[in-house]
Amino acid sequence: MIDINEALHIVLTHTTLFPATKLHLLESNGLVLAEEVHSPWDIPAADNSAMDGYAYFHNSVQGEFLPVCDFLPAGNVFTGTVPAGSAIKIMTGAQIPLGCDTVVPIEDVQEVTDGIKLKSTSKPGMHIRKRGEDVGSDDLVFIPGTLIRPQEIGMLASFGKTEVSVYRRPVVAIIATGDELVEPGEKLTPGKIVNCNSYCIASQVKAAGGMPIILGIARDNREATREILQNALSADVVITSGGVSVGDHDFVKEVIIEMGGEIKFWKINMKPGKPLAFGVISDKPIFALPGNPVAAMVGFELFVRPSLLTMMGHTRVNRPFVSAIATEPICNDGKRPHLMRVLVEQVSGKYYLKSTGNQGSARISSMTHGNALVLVPSETAINSGDTVNASLIDNCIYVQNGCY
Ligand code: AMP
Ligand code: MG
Repeated sequence: MIDINEALHIVLTHTTLFPATKLHLLESNGLVLAEEVHSPWDIPAADNSAMDGYAYFHNSVQGEFLPVCDFLPAGNVFTGTVPAGSAIKIMTGAQIPLGCDTVVPIEDVQEVTDGIKLKSTSKPGMHIRKRGEDVGSDDLVFIPGTLIRPQEIGMLASFGKTEVSVYRRPVVAIIATGDELVEPGEKLTPGKIVNCNSYCIASQVKAAGGMPIILGIARDNREATREILQNALSADVVITSGGVSVGDHDFVKEVIIEMGGEIKFWKINMKPGKPLAFGVISDKPIFALPGNPVAAMVGFELFVRPSLLTMMGHTRVNRPFVSAIATEPICNDGKRPHLMRVLVEQVSGKYYLKSTGNQGSARISSMTHGNALVLVPSETAINSGDTVNASLIDNCIYVQNGCY
């Protein structure tokens, strides 16, 4: 049995960066940039007004009245020069005309016949966004490895880009194993259970940015397992669930070896998810997750997700940890570190957590009621009031008396 960090290290040493591909800008959210991006122009392209108001030349003002010579909406350009001592009505974003160096917001003037009266004194240069102040022409703005989020998409769009080069998404083949399984929608007869793992894992793959392909169920015999695994090898990554323990019908490991593959490790010192194997067939990673749904999900979370993210060029592959106060005792009486499922919430700026209840690895409700994992070392009790690290597996949490 190896420990969690050792297992992750082995997985990551067999994880390689995927090639780049070109995608439409909107398809790139959440992926990692594979090219350098220089700004093709200044942003803003010219000095422009930061306010709806009046533009004028500050030093030419005498007294509080200014005649208004014209009106300049955003998108238009004033071709002349604003006469000294006059103002031009200007809208936010409109290019500052020649003869002006200052904008006074509409709220700070009184509009009178043929002009305006300044209600307060303004400073020269006020409310003008300078040419290139955000990004200068030819600036190196993004390097390969940059995570593309909505703000990067906004910046790339403002460069006029419609396509970007990104590291591509892995295609992930998903195989369930077991004579007892039926697919959702099929008739459930005595002795059978519904294959939930494939759907759960496919959703985890999608959430990590991969492209899942559900290949169906391998029945509990060598031939069926071999046939479906053979099909799966056209994908970039293979994930199986079940059939990897010590039962008479657990063929996955044997078949991987029969097919010329290698098992890099089997059995991790953790709960749930001990009987997890990781192998390769011709460098193709194969994650043989345990059959119990929670064990499969946790195994994915700890080992598959970081690997998929690394393939896609991500360097930040960890979930965020928060320091949370236990609101009830949480005990691990067992001999293995236990990844307990908990619910984390924030109240008045502090994180609190409670257990999701019975932690049986077949009880998927222990996941549905929670949003975080806490690693409780073997034979350890967390007391009510203790502060522990919880890794959040959801993007959003419930916040009471928040910070905004
Ligand atoms: P195994 O390791 O194949 O013996 O599976 C361990 C437990 O997980 C058994 O109770 C299986 O019925 C259950 N299991 C295996 N595969 C799935 C699946 N795809 N969906 C739901 N439960 C499963
Ligand atoms: Mg089985």
